[in-house]
Amino acid sequence: MRILIADDSSVSRHLLESIVKKWGYQVITTSDGNQAWEVLRQPDAPRMAILDWMMPGLTGPEVCRNVREKGIEPYTYILLLTSRTQKEDVIEGMTAGADDYVVKPFDQQELNVRLRAGRRIIDLQDELLRAQAALRYQATHDALTGVTNRGRITEILQEYVDGPGPLGVVMLDLDRFKAVNDTFGHAAGDAALVAAATRLSELLSDRDVIGRYGGEEFLIISRRKPEDLYLFAEQLRARIESAPVETADAVFPITASFGVASRNGARDISGTDLLKSADDALYEAKKQGRNRVVVAVSA
Ligand code: GH3
Ligand code: MG
Ligand code: MG
Repeated sequence: MRILIADDSSVSRHLLESIVKKWGYQVITTSDGNQAWEVLRQPDAPRMAILDWMMPGLTGPEVCRNVREKGIEPYTYILLLTSRTQKEDVIEGMTAGADDYVVKPFDQQELNVRLRAGRRIIDLQDELLRAQAALRYQATHDALTGVTNRGRITEILQEYVDGPGPLGVVMLDLDRFKAVNDTFGHAAGDAALVAAATRLSELLSDRDVIGRYGGEEFLIISRRKPEDLYLFAEQLRARIESAPVETADAVFPITASFGVASRNGARDISGTDLLKSADDALYEAKKQGRNRVVVAVSA
């Protein structure tokens, strides 16, 4: 754990530094409030700070206020150092956003436990941020294949539709997939879905996003030009059928049918209309015998 110590008295600063280092903290020191703020506003700032009250430049409480006003994430735990005579100012310091204070001359054991209390707060916040990130991920990704889920890919399509530039969608559906489940079991079906998602993802560039749109249906949104989209879909199709899916007790081929639709640069078209065109083309691909790409006539 890294900690900032800001104190203009070199005696007090060195004392603090040596004690805190002994407890295993990595210490950064500054001797004025402006420098302290400079350190704390950096993206990789230490998560804890011990700030003297009176310093050249910004005071400790002013540094606190800056940190809190900027809403710096992740949270910085701030301990203010006050002298006995400033003890009544503690309310001011805490109002400025300090988490705790220590009165100088400080008791080492007291400082130690107060820092530990701070670390608990920081650990809790880290856990909370991790849990939030995990929830965000779960809410936007398909649990089986790991690709974007239907809700999120639909949102992304809307974002792309609202933006400028080329835009196309590729809708694909695994062929005769019910037969895979019926013949080899549901687990083999799941393995095939994972394999399909992996194979498709391998061919995507930063211009493409993939999502699981339905049971055995995937949607790819692409910024490729309309004239490049057919070839791209054809590559995806070839990759899907490039090798059989192998599970512990089954080996079977997979193929998919593709429908492609693009926004013609000049024309406004809604996401729904694009999807409808791609879906119609996909239906046509099924009708023509599956394992093929059909481009929508007019999208
Ligand atoms: P088509 O070529 O016309 O698309 O035929 P199909 O058999 O693929 O189409 P159909 O819609 O009749 O069947 C789709 C099957 O996909 C039925 C469903 O049980 C299966 N399926 C959907 N989601 C999952 C899943 O998450 N896991 C597994 N194992 N199967 C799934
Ligand atoms: Mg199918
Ligand atoms: Mg289907």
